[in-house]
Amino acid sequence: MPSAAPEPIQIDAEVLSALLARIAERIGPAHVVTDGADLAPHLVEGRGLYRGTTPALVLPATQQDVAFIVSACADAGVPVVPQGGNTGLVGGQVPFGALLISLRRLNRIRDIDPVDLTMVAEAGCTLQQVQQAAADAGCLFPLSIGSEGSCQIGGNLSTNAGGTAVLRYGNMRELTFGLEVVLPDGRVWNGLSRLRKDNTGYALKDLFIGAEGTLGIITAAVLRLYPAPTERVTAMLGVPDPAAALALFRRLRAAAGDCLTGFEIMPRFGMETVLKHMQGTVRPLAGDHAWYVLAELTSTRPDDDLSELALAALAAAFEAGEVEDAVLAASEAQCDAMWRLRESLSDAQKFEGGSIKHDVSVPVSRVPDFIAEAARRCEAHLPGVRVCAFGHMGDGNIHFNLSQPVGMDKAAYLAGWEGFNRIVHDLVVSLGGSISAEHGIGLLKREELALYKDPVALALMAAIKAAVDPRGLANPGKVLPG
Ligand code: FAD
Repeated sequence: MPSAAPEPIQIDAEVLSALLARIAERIGPAHVVTDGADLAPHLVEGRGLYRGTTPALVLPATQQDVAFIVSACADAGVPVVPQGGNTGLVGGQVPFGALLISLRRLNRIRDIDPVDLTMVAEAGCTLQQVQQAAADAGCLFPLSIGSEGSCQIGGNLSTNAGGTAVLRYGNMRELTFGLEVVLPDGRVWNGLSRLRKDNTGYALKDLFIGAEGTLGIITAAVLRLYPAPTERVTAMLGVPDPAAALALFRRLRAAAGDCLTGFEIMPRFGMETVLKHMQGTVRPLAGDHAWYVLAELTSTRPDDDLSELALAALAAAFEAGEVEDAVLAASEAQCDAMWRLRESLSDAQKFEGGSIKHDVSVPVSRVPDFIAEAARRCEAHLPGVRVCAFGHMGDGNIHFNLSQPVGMDKAAYLAGWEGFNRIVHDLVVSLGGSISAEHGIGLLKREELALYKDPVALALMAAIKAAVDPRGLANPGKVLPG
């Protein structure tokens, strides 16, 4: 199994009661939730791997309220866990006895500047809300992930989220100019800089991005916008194997440069799983293929003829045997239908029983070797295991998921998680890769981090944690190995 849930922290009843009264007086009793039924959805993460506990969920509405609450908790010695949309996949947002702070009422877009191409958004804005606000201003906020209707900017920042357009625009770290953060002692760091250039010492914002709430609570950010694309070409392609997909990636990249915005891969098993379980999905190509690529090209330049460019590159790819069949979306609806096939894969897998997941990255050039060798080793380890390796191939980020053999007991299968971790993560590291590409460490990969992270890097991380949060009150038990 993944890292076990920690023992819940115990808070003295009198201390807790005084603390909650103080907070209720500040933000109103309606925003201090202690009822078990209301708390329940906040205490379990999406896959049901971890179930937590908390004495209360508090819902501040402003950065000042967050600072007040964190300061009051520091006075009382009570730890806190920040929670965004609760879509995280490594359990970082689940409290084990700590006070839970939801950011969802901090949901204002404070400012949009189409000249600077910046937006100041509060942490509780959903990603979709931010994308829409950017579009309304004629701009693009390019982060795009399957959970965008519910995940929040604070969660995206704290996990350094990736998604389907990293190839062109980078991940959340690269989409952020500045941050506003409440530190574990209640002080506020106002780092809402809009500058592209600012060489005045350590890059503090990069400490908090990807820290998963272990260094403080992000309350707002200056996000980087881009001009909105005026043209988009989306193609679904049948390819014989990941090596052919890599050749196709190189070809499209050479032809389209940074107009190649996304390059996703999924295997036949993944495609069949989606078509079988997700209502309204339609087979994209007439035939059946061992692998599928979803490629997207976008441009802001009115004179770019992306369709012509894509067709020419694909004709050459057919000639070279890299592509077996292809279809270009002829409408927005077709484009959305293609993306739905890719984005519903995680949900569809739930219908195939237990799934052991690895969110890993390797250099792009090693993706075919990684998929082939990891599949070979896992199938030898447990005959009948069904490999579903898919994801952001253009970033070298593969979700190497393993569905249980048909008919096997789910609990018995999941009990073998550790053995698969060793096979997959040893291989990833031997190829120069990372055991967490975009989902973070949270609780799930804490012990894995201890095994694979450079010891000097781990010591530096522990020193930073000790300097910023000496009393260990910010999201205790997450990220850093125990
Ligand atoms: P939560 O789950 O609430 O929290 C995540 C972590 O951030 C926790 O450690 C929490 O304590 C901390 N945190 C939350 N808010 C704050 C704050 N304001 N300040 C400090 N710390 C905070 N992820 C990707 O990167 N790419 C994908 O393509 C992708 N696809 C997904 C598809 C689906 C269907 C699902 C369910 C998830 C997917 N994810 C993906 C994972 C998840 O959506 C992201 O990790 C997301 O960024 C989490 O945001 P959230 O608001 O739900 O955060």
